[in-house]
Amino acid sequence: MNQNSLLKFNLSMMIIHSLRSFSLMKHIFYSMFIRSHHIISLMLLACSLQLSAEWQIEDAAIMGTTIRVEIWHKEASVRQQGIDKVLEEMERVNRLMSPYIEQSQLSKINKYAHEGPVEVDQDLFELIEKSQEYSKLTNGSFDITYASVGHLFDYRKEVKPTEDEIAAAKLLIDYRNIVLNPEQKTISFLKQGVKIDLGGIAKGFAVDRSIRHLKDLGIRHALVSAGGDTRLLGDRNGRAWLVGIRDPEDTKEVIVMLPLQDEALSTSGDYERFFIEDGKKYHHIIHPTTGYSASTVRSASILASDSTTTDALSTSIFVMGASKGLELIDSLEGVEGVIVDQQGKLYYSRGLEQEQKNSQTSSN
Ligand code: ADP
Ligand code: MG
Repeated sequence: MNQNSLLKFNLSMMIIHSLRSFSLMKHIFYSMFIRSHHIISLMLLACSLQLSAEWQIEDAAIMGTTIRVEIWHKEASVRQQGIDKVLEEMERVNRLMSPYIEQSQLSKINKYAHEGPVEVDQDLFELIEKSQEYSKLTNGSFDITYASVGHLFDYRKEVKPTEDEIAAAKLLIDYRNIVLNPEQKTISFLKQGVKIDLGGIAKGFAVDRSIRHLKDLGIRHALVSAGGDTRLLGDRNGRAWLVGIRDPEDTKEVIVMLPLQDEALSTSGDYERFFIEDGKKYHHIIHPTTGYSASTVRSASILASDSTTTDALSTSIFVMGASKGLELIDSLEGVEGVIVDQQGKLYYSRGLEQEQKNSQTSSN
């Protein structure tokens, strides 16, 4: 991976705090709390708020990605407790679920679950259970056993398996190969060689848990973001947060800007972790039926009330493609989405399309 792609790594979304980004925007949604003439002042406000003493911002590198926490609270000690809690939670989820840590429970599952049931913590059990629900909902597009093929790739080192290896390993991709025992809290696999990876849902889960900790501390205004997964608690001093979705064609640009509060947003993009060989792009989102990277869209962004949902669905919709993806989004209560296809065409879910029309009418 070259320097440039390292910079692009895991930055599918940006929180807008600068006027420079404003000039790059192609689309803006105005929600009920924002009128068009407020936008510029809002941007300036966002800049000045960064300097406000009652906001504390912290960045960290955990779970192979960039973690950002922004907290507003009058008391510095509460802000610091909030930051500490979030970082601890991210570390905890990483220790439990990382496929790169040999001692993690996830690694133990991958090592022993084909021999017999492996007992796991409640959180891990429930997240695997939830992953299975998304597999059913998406007709197998979301499938944590994708890792049976996925673990053969190393995107940083530009390592890929041979065609034959992919053909053999993809036969192991099937979420029905995972057996859950809710009484014993155990996981077992029906076949040898099956592997799981929660990379498509665990960061969202960690963000949700972090937000729960912040609420418990009495914090009412915060942002927690882990790579492509962001959740906003409350607003930013009476105004919505402005969250930009990157243009997959040029990830320094913003293609859509969304004013949000009390909402989660996740983006899955083909520009996050990839390498190109012989003109073909190999990236980290695997189509479970082909065993190769899903390739009909370039990014899928999902809005909902929690990050576990948006994380799982952004990965799922990326695999499903624009038409089937939108159909699924529109069938789900409280879920919206923005998809960018290979040609750069933008697709909005029904609710966002309506909101855009309303904002155009009100700004005319
Ligand atoms: P990230 O924020 O890491 O880019 P995404 O939410 O975009 O994550 O999901 C990509 C990750 O999901 C991959 O890195 C991989 O761990 C996992 N993944 C890839 N393909 C699938 C799939 N078909 N179903 C479930 N998870 C997947
Ligand atoms: Mg995801």
